[in-house]
Amino acid sequence: MNDKTNENPLQKYFRKPALYVQLPTKGKFNPEIPKTVLDEIGILPMTAIDDLTMRNPDGLLNGEALISVIESCCPSIPNVRNLCNIDVEALYLAIQYATNGKEITHKHKCTKCEVTSDFNVDIDYLLNKFPEIESVEPIEYEDLKIHMRPPSLESVTRVALIELEERRLLGNLNIAAGAEEGNELEISKKLYGSFKRVAEHNVELLVATVNKIESPEGEVTDSDQILEFLRNVPKSTIDKMNNVVKGITKKPDDLAKFDFVCPECGQKDTVNIETNPVNFS
Ligand SMILES: [Zn+2]
Repeated sequence: MNDKTNENPLQKYFRKPALYVQLPTKGKFNPEIPKTVLDEIGILPMTAIDDLTMRNPDGLLNGEALISVIESCCPSIPNVRNLCNIDVEALYLAIQYATNGKEITHKHKCTKCEVTSDFNVDIDYLLNKFPEIESVEPIEYEDLKIHMRPPSLESVTRVALIELEERRLLGNLNIAAGAEEGNELEISKKLYGSFKRVAEHNVELLVATVNKIESPEGEVTDSDQILEFLRNVPKSTIDKMNNVVKGITKKPDDLAKFDFVCPECGQKDTVNIETNPVNFS
């Protein structure tokens, strides 16, 4: 009886975009996103499943949780993993807006009378204070021009997971060191291995922030070639690149600073609001 063209009569009641936003980078580093999408990114409210996903307290899963929630609430974005981290932060604020309305409630404990009070932060106000990152000045090295981009959600997530893993490993090593004596050489070898892995992954993260390298012979975008290049240039060039990445991922200091006046005693405090759901930076 059912023919395949049958639509669910309830479909028109499914969630709809609650607001439209633009990315702080305007999608400059994500050529895979169609221009028509970039002009107006529709933000759907979270489903019950999305909400549960974000409440998962395990920091390890947070990166994946955030990716799945953005895929659910911003279905017009083709590859969420490839988004710049700063765009993700703005989108997550917009999703909170779509889900719970324009204000987020924070709790602050007064530094003078120690009474905890709620105060509301306007999400529109936060979104308007996000910096616009549309172009990044290239770094010059001999006759090369190195073009950088903000790190993607995927690379930031991956490095955070690796660091967590190595921290656990170090914790185990310390326990082992306490338990056995005379094993120092073995332990110091493992320690060295761990630091080396973290350093290697940091170079990989840096590769992910290179958009392209312009040389007199043409443009290089192949990540293996860029990785090999980074392993063979002087440290000073790597330092320059790291500084540029820091500069483009840094939000203005006053983005999340609020003046709080205690309703109990009138004490004035400056409160910092964390806008990054994953707390990597
Ligand atoms: Zn007070």
